[in-house]
Amino acid sequence: METVYLNGQFVSRDNAWISPDDRGFLFGDSVYEVVRCYGGFFFDMEGHMTRLRRSLAETRITWNEIDTFPDVAGELITKNSFNDGCSLVYLQVTRGAAPRTHAFPDPPVPPTVYAFARRQSLDTLIWERGISIEPVTDPRWSRCDIKSTALLANILAYQTAHDNGFAEVCFIRDGFVTEGAHSNIFFVRNETLYTHPESNIILSGITRKNVISLAADNNIALVEEAVPADMISYMHESFLTNTSGEVVPVIKIGDIVIGEGVPGTLTKKVQRLFREKVEAMALQQAQGPA
Ligand code: PMP
Repeated sequence: METVYLNGQFVSRDNAWISPDDRGFLFGDSVYEVVRCYGGFFFDMEGHMTRLRRSLAETRITWNEIDTFPDVAGELITKNSFNDGCSLVYLQVTRGAAPRTHAFPDPPVPPTVYAFARRQSLDTLIWERGISIEPVTDPRWSRCDIKSTALLANILAYQTAHDNGFAEVCFIRDGFVTEGAHSNIFFVRNETLYTHPESNIILSGITRKNVISLAADNNIALVEEAVPADMISYMHESFLTNTSGEVVPVIKIGDIVIGEGVPGTLTKKVQRLFREKVEAMALQQAQGPA
């Protein structure tokens, strides 16, 4: 039996019901987070909590029990017996249920808080082979920094890319690469990493942030600068980052082959450094406090 979390209670999925008046359902008026759990330990929970707090503040959704999330996530892992292997915990917080009108409910109603855990192993095959991604004009709004569940633009672009045989989207806005439909994008040219700076037109990925700090710790040059779409063919390597895939090499963007058409040397180094970081943190967690 699968156990999920809904509004303060752990219940079986079959008993998890939300109102048809929920604003997450009616308007996509809600935010979310996805955290990876490696053998019982959560990767950068602090980073995810900071981003969640920001998404809630920016959308003016109030969830007073936000500090309970790390424990809720841990309970979901335990109750579903996911303590071994890899899994993800998904959390969604909506503005709550109220008669449909654009204005926020007045007086405010409690948020709807839903979380579930799902087993999800890492796809090591695509780490070795790399993927092709499709360049698409970025049709999204100008608050991509909020981790909103209103993902219709991402979903439509992703599905088109998928139908065309691509594994992800490469959004291009005003001539510059922004990010993927559910990932951040990095490029390598002359041993230097490039990625779009934090702004309102990308999501500040937790994996992206960790890759940036790994680069700093390991003397890898990195510039937070957007890459023009017409420079893609001059890039030597490319990779994506996200919670579900970690560091995924990109070998083709549209019909442009990146570098030699295989995962690049620096990409593989970043992949290895990220893996080592995860493994070191998992070990530290298993050993407990010194
Ligand atoms: N950009 C978008 C649009 C995303 O949906 C995601 C995945 N949530 C990311 C970037 C990567 O973020 P993270 O590394 O925190 O998973």
